[in-house]
Amino acid sequence: MKQIGDVLVIGAGVIGAAIAFALTRAGNLRVTLLEKGPLAAGMTRRSAGLVHPFQAHPTLIQFALDSYAFYARAAELLGANKSEFVSTGAALLGGATDAAKIFAHAQMFASDAREVTTLARGALAAQYPGVSPQLYAGLFTPRAGYADAAQMTQRLTQAARQRGLTIATGAQVKQILLAQGRVRGALTTAGEYEAPLVIVAAGGWTDKTLATIGLTTQLQFQRGAILFYEQPPNMTQGHPLFWDVNGEFFLRPHPYHLSAAGMLSPQPQALQFDALDEYVAPDIARDVSEFVARVWSTPSAPPKRAHTIVYSVGAGGLPMLGQMPGAAGLFVAAGFGANAFAVAPAVGETIARMVTDTSAPSALSFFQPARAKDNS
Ligand SMILES: Cc1cc2nc3c(=O)[nH]c(=O)nc-3n(C[C@H](O)[C@H](O)[C@H](O)COP(=O)(O)OP(=O)(O)OC[C@H]3O[C@@H](n4cnc5c(N)ncnc54)[C@H](O)[C@@H]3O)c2cc1C
Repeated sequence: MKQIGDVLVIGAGVIGAAIAFALTRAGNLRVTLLEKGPLAAGMTRRSAGLVHPFQAHPTLIQFALDSYAFYARAAELLGANKSEFVSTGAALLGGATDAAKIFAHAQMFASDAREVTTLARGALAAQYPGVSPQLYAGLFTPRAGYADAAQMTQRLTQAARQRGLTIATGAQVKQILLAQGRVRGALTTAGEYEAPLVIVAAGGWTDKTLATIGLTTQLQFQRGAILFYEQPPNMTQGHPLFWDVNGEFFLRPHPYHLSAAGMLSPQPQALQFDALDEYVAPDIARDVSEFVARVWSTPSAPPKRAHTIVYSVGAGGLPMLGQMPGAAGLFVAAGFGANAFAVAPAVGETIARMVTDTSAPSALSFFQPARAKDNS
């Protein structure tokens, strides 16, 4: 039987869940979340869950700050009895030759100076035993932290369900439905869903889903790895997030006296998105271990476990967010690179405004999907 509603959200990763949550807060809409697997079946399950404002674009900085404010109040906002989010602060790390890059980041926070401070060499070691006194660090902000991204996605969808969200798992969208240049719903493996608004938040599967109506956002794929290390015994106070100014490495605390460190490949790669293997190449494991060794004052033991992750980025390294040209009522939210979790609540609010408030812009100029060279 055909299901009828107001908005369909395709994909229950953290972006789709945050959109569904914001839509159920925004008004009296019948919202359905369509997911081909279980909740958080895609890359969100593999995410490191970092939230920090050291982003590449001023709008993404604002999204990350707004999202941090959301996550910091997640228990209250999502009606949970405990918070999934751990507030740690974050340090932006640079080497001896990175002064110009650190300065460029600092400039983006110029109007917000009290919340982002410059760190002198050795400053973090004084506060966090176990952090190397030799460490070059650039900037520090208290407005950063991390969470288990899959659990947070579950929490967002549970909270949205209490406000009336319909969740259809095991419903793979096989065809977006169009009539006279407007979307009218989606045909899934679990039946047909009719709605005048459709938001594609299918992560790296976004273009495959859009291809059913001959559209594309031309997302590119990059690959990364996360490795888990035991913290040194002298690391009694834990440590903040560390984010490398070149965006290649990160290190964050993890429960059970572990830390999670990762590497993000700077180059787009041709990848089989549906057939992700778990192989972490020895040279990647070596580079990540070297980064950890730079941050900690004592050598780290080999990682205890590791996994890979693929993420997608839009043209120019910026996301695709807004109305798709060529199909009225069709929106897309994808290509957030290694920062989907960091900005998800703000993305949800932004898309909810775009689809519910006719006076709101239907895309942010730098992120508009129309910039893909050839949308059809
Ligand atoms: C090493 C590494 C570390 C990372 N760490 C972080 C981090 O710390 N912080 C951060 O912000 N980001 C991080 N990322 C990136 C981030 O985790 C992912 O990019 C993000 O989780 C993607 O979220 P999403 O909701 O867009 O996509 P996904 O989580 O992939 O969700 C898309 C969903 O859509 C569903 N779907 C697809 N096609 C269909 C269809 N046709 N019908 C129905 N459902 C469909 C999929 O099953 C999936 O559940 C990291 C990436 C890497 C490489």
